[in-house]
Amino acid sequence: MQRPDTLSLNDAFSPEDFRKTGHALIDQLADYLFHSQARTQTTVLPSIDPEEMLQRWDADFMASGDSNFTQLISNVLSDSNNLQDPRYIGHQCCPPLPLAALSDLVGNLINNASAVYEMGPVNVAMERQLIRWMAGLAGWKDNADGVFTHGGTIGNLTALLAARQAMTDYDIWTEGVRHDKRLAVLVSEQCHYSIKRAVAMMGLGEDAVYLIPTDDTYHITQRGLSLQFAKAISDGRRPFTLVANGCSTATGSYDDLEMAAAFCSNNKLWLHVDGAHGASVLLSPEYRHRLRGIERADSFVWDAHKMMMVSALATAVIFREGVHSYEAFSQNASYLFEAHARDEWYNYAHRTVECTKAMIGLKLYVPLKVYGTDLFKNHIETTHKLAESFADLLRLSDDFQLAVEPESNIVCFRFIPKDVSDLNSLQAELRCRVLQSEKFYIVQTMLKEGLWLRVTLIHPLTTLDDLKDLLNHIRELAIS
Ligand SMILES: *Cc1c(COP(=O)(O)O)cnc(C)c1O
Repeated sequence: MQRPDTLSLNDAFSPEDFRKTGHALIDQLADYLFHSQARTQTTVLPSIDPEEMLQRWDADFMASGDSNFTQLISNVLSDSNNLQDPRYIGHQCCPPLPLAALSDLVGNLINNASAVYEMGPVNVAMERQLIRWMAGLAGWKDNADGVFTHGGTIGNLTALLAARQAMTDYDIWTEGVRHDKRLAVLVSEQCHYSIKRAVAMMGLGEDAVYLIPTDDTYHITQRGLSLQFAKAISDGRRPFTLVANGCSTATGSYDDLEMAAAFCSNNKLWLHVDGAHGASVLLSPEYRHRLRGIERADSFVWDAHKMMMVSALATAVIFREGVHSYEAFSQNASYLFEAHARDEWYNYAHRTVECTKAMIGLKLYVPLKVYGTDLFKNHIETTHKLAESFADLLRLSDDFQLAVEPESNIVCFRFIPKDVSDLNSLQAELRCRVLQSEKFYIVQTMLKEGLWLRVTLIHPLTTLDDLKDLLNHIRELAIS
């Protein structure tokens, strides 16, 4: 059939066309999933440089479109990183559950963008229930509360804003930061960069960040904490918050939260736990002890787009005393206003940086309801055990070295063949070659002893054989 020159808006919104195109799309994506899991889709991430990529995606938009949807999507799939391939073991981005992706599709079509109840009633209710459920897993009571936000970076910022207002005796939102009371934040030196960025964005200056040194296994220590606390005081600052990792990005190390909580209560500090990656262990009876002490924290963030198998972005920011969630963006700290805002718990705009906000709750709520929590528990336990087995494998080999015992599903290691003097350059070079081969996606990280290769075992179908293949692949690349 001849295409009409200009598609009418009626046709663009045609339910029948949606049905047809949609069915074909699902077939296309199901094939993609099949090939990804079979590892026959040889490209885990395409080795295309940014300039070339620009050429492939031109901006020659015609008055009437000239591209075929199926073909265009096919090109998107082949030029994109393939997180659904079990050999994608790079960053902490997960292959979303297909059911979560379908739920997201629903959210995208109905688009009940929901910073206020009136605009997205179901999603607001789902987010409220999810936050309470997540808080309950941390051992918190009914007065815990929080919000969903677009990512851990904004989540950490939200928590620190609330912490600062809660720990200060004047209205920072209205007055701004008083310069005679310089504040400080104690932060594990292994913290994600979003913490420093949050502190700087809050107008405190990056100098307000006091980095707590970590031990050989990348955990903060009591001694390091005391030293940096004392240093901040002697610099004329008032520390108000400690940010601990649960777990850290680079090595997946969990700080001792019981020690951190005791230190905070002795020194009147707010304890914020960055659980962006690691809070999901709360679902596993076997691994939840890693977060022992979180019940005494004041706030934590939890990224569902990392270990909960939903697409980016879906972050919960949770406060043990839920009323503090109203202090992050309080334009008037008077309790009158807060009481009013609290009556409107369902209008999240009081408590989020965003105005229009995606239906974040939906894509997490639906799989939890349909599949139940065991699936998530199994995912945590499978990936953590795989990390332990991979660590065993590395320890037993004489040409690889393990950085630290994994406490999560993140493993750092390096290739140490005999007669190599510059180990750092070797790792960087090998990683480049792995990426050029398009067979695996791995990343690298700078640790105390230099540069290491790093994997995040976040795909539920990655096996130990995949990891053996990775090591052999690296060995081959080293001699080629
Ligand atoms: C991923 C991560 C973040 C950042 O979260 P985004 O969702 O990427 O913004 C913060 N902290 C830790 C520990 C992380 O692993």
